[in-house]
Amino acid sequence: MKELLSHLEKFRFGDSLVRQSSIALKTAFDSILPLRCCLCMQPDQNGFCHQCQLLLPWLGCACLKCGAALPSEGICGKCQTKPAGIQSATIPFRYIDPISHQIHSLKYQRKLTVAPALGKMLAIQVIKNMSRLPDALLPVPLHINRIKQRGFNQAGLIAESTGKLLGIPVDYGIICRTKDTVSQTSLDQGARAKNMLEAFAVHVNGRYDAVAVIDDVITSGATINAICTELRLNGYNNISAWAIAKT
Ligand SMILES: [Zn+2]
Ligand SMILES: [Zn+2]
Repeated sequence: MKELLSHLEKFRFGDSLVRQSSIALKTAFDSILPLRCCLCMQPDQNGFCHQCQLLLPWLGCACLKCGAALPSEGICGKCQTKPAGIQSATIPFRYIDPISHQIHSLKYQRKLTVAPALGKMLAIQVIKNMSRLPDALLPVPLHINRIKQRGFNQAGLIAESTGKLLGIPVDYGIICRTKDTVSQTSLDQGARAKNMLEAFAVHVNGRYDAVAVIDDVITSGATINAICTELRLNGYNNISAWAIAKT
């Protein structure tokens, strides 16, 4: 009964079909464990074998707030002059090959085993970076039209894997995508921010002291910043941003 109640609770807010898809996929996804390294295909249960991990484009020194690459660790000029309200950013990789190729194959070729591999790398980076873990992981939601087209939310899959490793629940009921935004790829930074205006709604905080918003890739930060603004308006004060890669 307790399990059923928590299952039903997920349907209270936003578009239930998005959450139904996520739940249905979670059930199927949990059984998919990578048995080979995603890059060299040698038998390995870590997603990326030790040798291939050494070859990955680790981000290195970056802004503690937005993940922008810096010559030494600190807070970039943009975050100092216009803080987005994010406590910390954890992003293990630069968005270049082979990570960009892996993310592309997850999203557009349905190579779902990549998600736990990337999720594990993110979990490793989180453990290195953070002294206190958040109470819940909030995947950046896709609009229902995109879910129908793709069949899954890659941020949700990554969050499930990272959450499982770190023992943090994934909550799909907090952030809701209310606007079917056009793809950000062809837009400049100003247009990206405008595109994201009022794209999300957030459930008023009644449960969590600290949350981490999870996306696959952070580019301009427009999506994360729009979500962060909504979260803060609804009582969330301790927000982290986690992603696999930064462009
Ligand atoms: Zn390998
Ligand atoms: Zn920054």
